[in-house]
Amino acid sequence: MNNNFGIAIHGGAGTILREKLSPKLEQQFRAALTLSISNGYKILQDGGSSLDAVQAAIIVMENSELFNAGKGAVFTHDETNEMDSSIMCGKTLACGCGTLLKHIKNPIIFARTVMEKSEHVLLASDGAEQFAKLHNLEIVEPKYFHTKRRWFQLQVVKENEKETETTRTILDHDGDNSKHGTVGAVALDKDGNLAAATSSGGMTNKRFNRIGDTPMIGAGTYADNATCAVSTTGHGEYFMRLVTAKDISDMMSYKNLDLIDASKEAISKLSAIDGSGGVIAIDKDGNIAMPMNTPGMYRASFSANDKELSVKIFVEE
Ligand code: ASP
Repeated sequence: MNNNFGIAIHGGAGTILREKLSPKLEQQFRAALTLSISNGYKILQDGGSSLDAVQAAIIVMENSELFNAGKGAVFTHDETNEMDSSIMCGKTLACGCGTLLKHIKNPIIFARTVMEKSEHVLLASDGAEQFAKLHNLEIVEPKYFHTKRRWFQLQVVKENEKETETTRTILDHDGDNSKHGTVGAVALDKDGNLAAATSSGGMTNKRFNRIGDTPMIGAGTYADNATCAVSTTGHGEYFMRLVTAKDISDMMSYKNLDLIDASKEAISKLSAIDGSGGVIAIDKDGNIAMPMNTPGMYRASFSANDKELSVKIFVEE
């Protein structure tokens, strides 16, 4: 029995500035992060698995309009919502991922189902949705994901694009604090098993069928009981180029770095190629790291080591 169990979550990293986040919205974020991490922590405390804990934490954020996952997913350039998700078990290295999901209410449940009920790792688009129906997952109409805030956000980016005659995708929160991020969770349970999970709507104004780092094992999500569990958030193309989540695990096993140093090193590598974002990670001893190179990342942690639930938004907190 492991007494160092714990969980960390993120709700996206980006240009989250104190002066732009209204007290009301800040309070809503802190409350949602608290609910998410408390649900996950309770499962661990009761002896439940890290997989159940990360899934429970993510479902809270997928069902909230505040985060860019599930209900609050951002729009593609073509004004559709296309979601990505992944989950990984550190004990067996089993994993499941989904991409180009348009009708599945909780993409994280989909990823878990792929992991446990199929012989595959990644299912996409129509085939993914057919598999979801086969396993009686909750299916919703696209309008479920159509929120005013995200719609407005896309229109602003498109307007901007016209003026500057350049195409750009943006992190959902960049430059406007009414729009916020991808969600992720990492946990260590009492049996010493690690798990990681990530769920995202991707980036605002992305090309349709663009796939980000979230459903890519090794880039956006990774877990191995021998090292750590990691979930990333930020500009996905950079995490894909660096294979960031697996890189943190590799730096621990091959370079003998501890979790804190390996995570920091991953962020330095991200900065070196002008990528932006953050990671959350937990190791087999329950240590937690949450570095970023952005002004903020919605995040929370709760471990038996620290005994205190901590919720943070800004980098200097
Ligand atoms: N990493 C996500 C993506 O590129 C976006 C985010 O984390 O906000 O799809």
